[in-house]
Amino acid sequence: MENVSESMKKWMDQNNQTAHYIELMSDVYRNGDVVQFINDHRDELDEDHIDRSAAKLYEYVTEKRKLENGETTFAPGYEPHLIMSNHLIDVAYAPTKETVAREKMKSEQRRLKTISMPKLVKDASLTEFEKDENRVLALKEALQFISAFEASPRTYHQGLYLYGSFGVGKTYLLGAIANQLAHDGYSTTMVHFPSFAVEMKNAIATNNVADKLEAVKRAPILMLDDIGADSVSDWIRDEVLAVILEYRMQEELPTFFSSNLSMAKLESEYLTVSKKSEAPLKAKRIMQRVRFLAKQVEMVGQNRRPN
Ligand code: ADP
Ligand code: MG
Repeated sequence: MENVSESMKKWMDQNNQTAHYIELMSDVYRNGDVVQFINDHRDELDEDHIDRSAAKLYEYVTEKRKLENGETTFAPGYEPHLIMSNHLIDVAYAPTKETVAREKMKSEQRRLKTISMPKLVKDASLTEFEKDENRVLALKEALQFISAFEASPRTYHQGLYLYGSFGVGKTYLLGAIANQLAHDGYSTTMVHFPSFAVEMKNAIATNNVADKLEAVKRAPILMLDDIGADSVSDWIRDEVLAVILEYRMQEELPTFFSSNLSMAKLESEYLTVSKKSEAPLKAKRIMQRVRFLAKQVEMVGQNRRPN
């Protein structure tokens, strides 16, 4: 597409200083931004400079007007600014406020990675989190984590182990924490653990276990949602869960959990179900890692699920 000032230049060559041109330019020189810019740069601009910048000034005024009228501009998503360049006036294009906001939103979305998580996490927000007396404690813990973590993201911070009955808002709160962290520039991976376990089992056939496991275990912030909701196999417990938690403990990476089970029940009812004699010991080892990584916080309240 031909730039406005180029077509203006061509047009001027053909119709140099005609009445029409003078009329066009008098409109340009009356424009408030143009007057202001010339005034602000009076000491650098003489009449000759201003004359030689006419095409650029015309471009500025035209594009700005199109933008204000919602018409298609030369550079959609960008707005014109007058700048000084080599003693002449030039037009630079910078992203509009809307473009900046949209870009920011996109990069925020990129910072939240989810595996099989319900849609509700995308819109979960701490400010909309309804804090009745039961849930206020969990919210306080969440806010404490965020402020401590953001004050020193390189040092170790214990995550939260949110537990309580079905529908109290555990997943919602994890999502709200993750969204706040994404807004503030930190990446989180949220994993629905029972679905991830199925995915991992299927990955054996396609030889993808290691890659999938790596991506999850190295997440800067990891949230394992609904742990304890399925029945765990020895393989998932030892080759998936234990591996993730071991790595996160060694690397001191923030890790969150949500569960219907308290930590004590997670150990006795989930991790120890296998009949093998080694199961209690393995369960104990995993629980040591869970306790190191996360602080247990109970969430009580009514079931909020609509149905
Ligand atoms: P849990 O993970 O504890 O089973 P969820 O986080 O899935 O519970 O929440 C259950 C339902 O309640 C969801 O539909 C969720 O959108 C809604 N919900 C939970 N907490 C809030 C909240 N603070 N504000 C609005 N809706 C909420
Ligand atoms: Mg949940």
